[in-house]
Amino acid sequence: MTKVLLATRNAGKLVELRRLLDSAGIEVLGLADVPEFPEAPETGATFAENALAKARDAAAATGLPAVADDSGIAVDALNGMPGVLSARWCGRHGADLENLQLVLGQLQDVPDERRGARFVCAAALVLPDGTETVVHGEWPGRLVRAPRGTNGFGYDPIFVPDGEERTSAELSPEEKDAASHRGRAMRALVPHLRALA
Ligand code: IMP
Repeated sequence: MTKVLLATRNAGKLVELRRLLDSAGIEVLGLADVPEFPEAPETGATFAENALAKARDAAAATGLPAVADDSGIAVDALNGMPGVLSARWCGRHGADLENLQLVLGQLQDVPDERRGARFVCAAALVLPDGTETVVHGEWPGRLVRAPRGTNGFGYDPIFVPDGEERTSAELSPEEKDAASHRGRAMRALVPHLRALA
């Protein structure tokens, strides 16, 4: 069976990609399934650069086809920021609540019609022979003024996807997978992965 490494420790992302590749004869491994290798910090200027860097490192270290993703939120009123800095917008990596509160404060005086935002995800596939593929997924919506919902993570409690009244933290995991930036990017990679089987 063909093996592909998804360079993540996020169990949710692994489950999602395994589900997408279920019938393709491809086994999806996570970082916990391979010998440890150094993980470089994310310093790229774009989601694609970060995703590619992670996938290149993983393919080089393991000799396996490697997939990696990088994502964040681009807020119209902030000229596309936090962007690649989404995880550490408040100055501390992974402080989800502080990140979200900072963006809400920055948008305090921004009227409803200018509160557009989108989640963006780049997913990269790097093969041991050096072949590289990058795809993107976007999820457009708007930012509300107060957090709602307990599912998801990061900016989900303040993001309402287009066509919805609920925030993405009020969607079920299945509903989110079906529409999200990450789901779209991963599904765009599936034909490239199936071709490896
Ligand atoms: P990473 O791609 O796992 O490095 O995520 C980058 C950051 O972007 C996260 O820490 C969140 O702040 C934000 N982010 C990315 N995807 C989502 C999402 O689906 N919901 C909420 N926040 C997200």
